[in-house]
This record gives sequence, structure tokens and C-alpha cells, in this order.
Amino acid sequence: MFFSGGSVQLTGRAALGTLVLLAALGAVGVAVAAWSTDRSTQPPESPKAVTADPSGYSELPKAVTPKGILEHERRFQAIAEAHGNTRAAGTPGYRESREYVAERLRRAGYGVRVQSFKFPFFRVLAPLEMARVSPDPHAYELREDFAPMQYSGSGEVTAELEPVDVSPSPGGEPGPSTSGCEEPDFTGFDEGDVAFLQRGTCTFEEKAKNAEAAGASAALIFNRGEENKTDTIRGTLGKPGVTIPVLGTSFAVGEDLVRMTQGGDVTVRVFASTVSETREASNVIADTEEGREDQTVVVGGHLDSVPEGPGINDNGSGSATVLEIAEKMSELGIEPRNRVRFAFWGAEELGLFGSK
Ligand SMILES: [Zn+2]
Repeated sequence: MFFSGGSVQLTGRAALGTLVLLAALGAVGVAVAAWSTDRSTQPPESPKAVTADPSGYSELPKAVTPKGILEHERRFQAIAEAHGNTRAAGTPGYRESREYVAERLRRAGYGVRVQSFKFPFFRVLAPLEMARVSPDPHAYELREDFAPMQYSGSGEVTAELEPVDVSPSPGGEPGPSTSGCEEPDFTGFDEGDVAFLQRGTCTFEEKAKNAEAAGASAALIFNRGEENKTDTIRGTLGKPGVTIPVLGTSFAVGEDLVRMTQGGDVTVRVFASTVSETREASNVIADTEEGREDQTVVVGGHLDSVPEGPGINDNGSGSATVLEIAEKMSELGIEPRNRVRFAFWGAEELGLFGSK
């Protein structure tokens, strides 16, 4: 759970925060600011204000129960299980989660808006592989030695490794490497080779795009070698667009391969199976009919899961709690002094796209 601006995001142990949130809603706009620092378990700041509130808020904390929240959680779990065990943005599991939330809100009497937007989708479909075929065959280890760049393309490639303006002693030269950043770097590049690049100066995306434009079948980008720049690079190409496999490697792997390419031809094999494309996701938004529009309190949580799982803790619990509050507010006929907007954001896990 965190607060930013005037909005409230529920996440993780959301049920605990619910009581606090309910108190905040009852005590009018100022309470939102008053709770801005942490997930506090303190009682409402001004119980009198709550009990004296004629709108019926005092009933709400008792009405929102773990049982009610769990009903939605179980549904999210079932939706995930029916759709490859995920509810990630851009997948059928997300669309069904959205339908479920929208339907429950409509049934509770809210006017529901589904707000669609595009976002850059990326998913790794199978473990990536990287190996040296010759000389001295060697299979590199995922994570330890190499990792996919986010928004890497797909392919299975066995080809010669071609250094692109990498310094003879990587990391040893003064100043960061400009490997793959400048056009002349690729002069004479053999089409179909695997571009062998070093981190530095320009973005991974620029290096990868330049390599692809020069006809590379894949690209390896190794780390720089200074302090804190020796591990396997876990980078991003920023957005979909590059179609060749692009992997980051550790400095040790890069250094080793530079030495080997100086002694003769080096052939590598790279395998990547990913989906990298623009997809559509959506937010579900429902406002209370009553309440001051100019004092709208936004109560939100992200509805999408991570690609790897059903996302019941993160952030099914938050979404389920927001949904349960909305249902109970309607059931109790609460007429809030300030408008309340319930928001279920999409594509949070890939970069807060929905809430933006
Ligand atoms: Zn999350």
C-alpha cells in the first residue's frame, strides 16, 4: 500500500490497511494526507468524527470482512488457473479479471468505465540459452553468465561472434566504451554474425538496433568491468522493436570471449523465445454518484499479476479489498461527502502504465 498525490494504492496485506482507509474516507479529505507516511495500524484519528458522520461510514469497517475479500481472491485464483496460471496484463487472464470486476461493480449499481490503453508487452516463453560451440565447447549459465534483455527478439542462431569496437583490454581503456554506438563500428560487419558489444556511452536499444541494421543475427552485450559493473547485465531495450535475440552478459564472460576472438574464430549459439509487442490493456474505474467532485478520493489497486503467476498477494489482495469496499459502500447505501473513485489499474507490473 502506498500513497502518492491524492490517490491510495492497496497492495499486499491490504486487509489490514482497510480499516485505516475506511477511517480516512470517513474523516474527509484531510485524512488522506494525514496517513501519507506509512501503513499504520493506529485507530482512526478522530473516532467522534466517524460516529457523528450521518452518512453511515461507521458501519463500513464491520461490513468489509476477510470473508468478503476472500471471495474475490478465490475468483482471481480460479481465473488464473483457467488461463495458464496468470492474470498478467495483455493476457486472457487479465481480460477475465477485468470482466469480473466490472460486472461486480455494475451489479453493485456503479457506472463503470473501462479505459483502454496500449503498453509494451514482453514475455520470455522458454529459458534462454547461450553456448560457445567452438573452440572448446561450453554452455553458459543463465543468470550467472547471461540474461535476456527486456524486449529482446526471438531466434535460434549458431554463428561467428564478431567484436564491434570492443577494446582489446575491456574496462582497461580510459573512458567508457562506445562499442556499437557509432556507424563506423559496423563497417565491414559480416551479415549473419553475432554482434559482440560492450556496455557504455549509448543505450542498449541503440546498440541492438545498430547491430540489427548491420545484419547481425543476434547481439551479446557484456558489462564494463569497473566496480559495480561486472555482473550479468539485466537491461532493457526500452520497448518492442528489435527482432533479433539480445542478451546481456557478465564482464567475465565478455573478457574471456574478447581474448578468444583475438586468437581466432569463435562460434556461439544463442536461443531466445520471447513475445515482444505492443498490446492493449485497460483500467476499470467506478465513481460513487454522490459526493463532491472537486474532492474526489481515489482508491486504487493494480489488477494485473506478474507474468509468472496468479498474483493473489500482489495484487489480488488489493484489488479484492477495493472491490469489497465498493460493494459494501453501495450495499449500506453510504452517501459520501466526497466522491470516491474506485480504480483497478492495468499493466502495473510492466511499468505503472495504467495508473499513469
Ligand atoms: Zn505489484
